[in-house]
Amino acid sequence: MRAIDVHVHPSTRGLDSQACHYFRRNLDDVPRTEEKFANLYIQQDVKALLIGWHPSTVREGTRNSNDHVIDLATKYPNAFAGVLASLDTGAPDLAEVAKEAEALLESPKVKGFKFHPPDQGFYPSDRRYYGIWEVLQAGGKPVMFHAGFTVLGANTDGGSGIALEYGRPIHLDTLARDFPRMKIIAAHPGWPWQEELIGVVTHKKNVYVDTSGYLAEQLPEIFLKAIGGRLQDRALFGTDFPYVDLKKALVSFDKVDFKDTAKEKILFSNAQGLFNI
Ligand SMILES: [Zn+2]
Repeated sequence: MRAIDVHVHPSTRGLDSQACHYFRRNLDDVPRTEEKFANLYIQQDVKALLIGWHPSTVREGTRNSNDHVIDLATKYPNAFAGVLASLDTGAPDLAEVAKEAEALLESPKVKGFKFHPPDQGFYPSDRRYYGIWEVLQAGGKPVMFHAGFTVLGANTDGGSGIALEYGRPIHLDTLARDFPRMKIIAAHPGWPWQEELIGVVTHKKNVYVDTSGYLAEQLPEIFLKAIGGRLQDRALFGTDFPYVDLKKALVSFDKVDFKDTAKEKILFSNAQGLFNI
């Protein structure tokens, strides 16, 4: 296995046309059938973690869901190492959501969870969710939170109702303090708060980052320097496929000026250990 891609949205459903436009992705280049999607990962010898979450800005077509990504991971184990399940933080009964989390933790295909605070409109450090976090911490599987800027609602009036502030890295600092055994992954370099994110990850050993949403050559300088150096044990390779192309992301990462040992950790062994793959 060449790499583990910890941040993959299935391109079989719920494609966000705004995000494709933002990333200048030609929809014709995106595999839309399950077979083509799986084959891309098999051909590149990369295993993906699939995110079971449906952006609020995608209103057409069949919704992406936990069931869909678990089904894909079951059918194509050579392409997909498992899933990061999502939970509805906007549900009226959060005790029910905690029960759902318990049920999902039982599934060997569920390797962790993924939340999108700006799109879901919540603060990870809000005590209303602490019952859910207790369950997730006890389950021992990592929890990923979108951090920083989001393309969802970008360049629209009022950002289509999405507030970036929910994605500030400092909220993950409070969460990491209150749940020291929870492995927290901040997805993306956290721009425009990349310095805040590096501060949080440097201070809290249970916080990790992924490289998704960027080609390596586009990552903020301070972020690149940190993950190639002091934070190399806590950085994970991720693409944000289909918005970022897998092949381009691999080529770009390969060119980055890191020691081979740091590259190997970020591409593969950090994720392997963290997710038990
Ligand atoms: Zn994403």
